[in-house]
Amino acid sequence: MRPTPIAIGLFVMRALVIEDDPTAARLVRLVLAEDAWEVDDAATGQEGRRLARAHAYDLIVLDLGLRDLHGIAVVQDLRQSGRATPVLILTGETAEQTMIRGLDAGADDYMTKPFSREALRARARALVRRGAAGRADTMTVGNLSLNRLTREVRVDSHTLALTPREFALLEYLMLRHDEVVSRPELLEKVWDMHFDPGSNVVDAHVARVRRKLEDGKASAAITTSRGVGFSIGAASGAPPR
Ligand code: CA
Repeated sequence: MRPTPIAIGLFVMRALVIEDDPTAARLVRLVLAEDAWEVDDAATGQEGRRLARAHAYDLIVLDLGLRDLHGIAVVQDLRQSGRATPVLILTGETAEQTMIRGLDAGADDYMTKPFSREALRARARALVRRGAAGRADTMTVGNLSLNRLTREVRVDSHTLALTPREFALLEYLMLRHDEVVSRPELLEKVWDMHFDPGSNVVDAHVARVRRKLEDGKASAAITTSRGVGFSIGAASGAPPR
């Protein structure tokens, strides 16, 4: 039986494992799968760097002794690009100096091989919780509020009725408030699709949520950036309420 995903809201939790030893990579994948993580693999530092920049992962498990570049360079690159993705270093390098360098470079946690399966699972969960703790249960944009625990969306004191998918879409846009979120990222995080099926599923849902916000007289609106994606922010010309 498939385990219950440790989803935050409706999102699937996705990890990137950067590891050049296929046996170790397979083991990490199996261990994370016990908590229903969706796992992508990168066998080189270059590939890891590319994937980490291209996708919004919830966790990166990073080997240090990669063939093409050192894992610490991967963390540095990620942090320099402004990504706060939790990084867990998992390495055979046991020297304290290496651990210190890894954490100073921006990694969040450090484990040495051989590792305990249960400890890896617990640390992965802890890193996700820590990431999620920075996000409040209730998010607001203007007079629009979304409660992630009760799953209620309100404009002032009026409740808006959204379908679960519309809720997840709005939730993700509000998490990334004032940032432009691309269609591929929305497909991945809200629909768990890794490819664009060529339909207008995202646009259709955005249109419906946008209409509900307008009809509900929200002072927040979803903006389309042509060719880039969508963002939520204060509605221009919203009447003061
Ligand atoms: Ca290695």
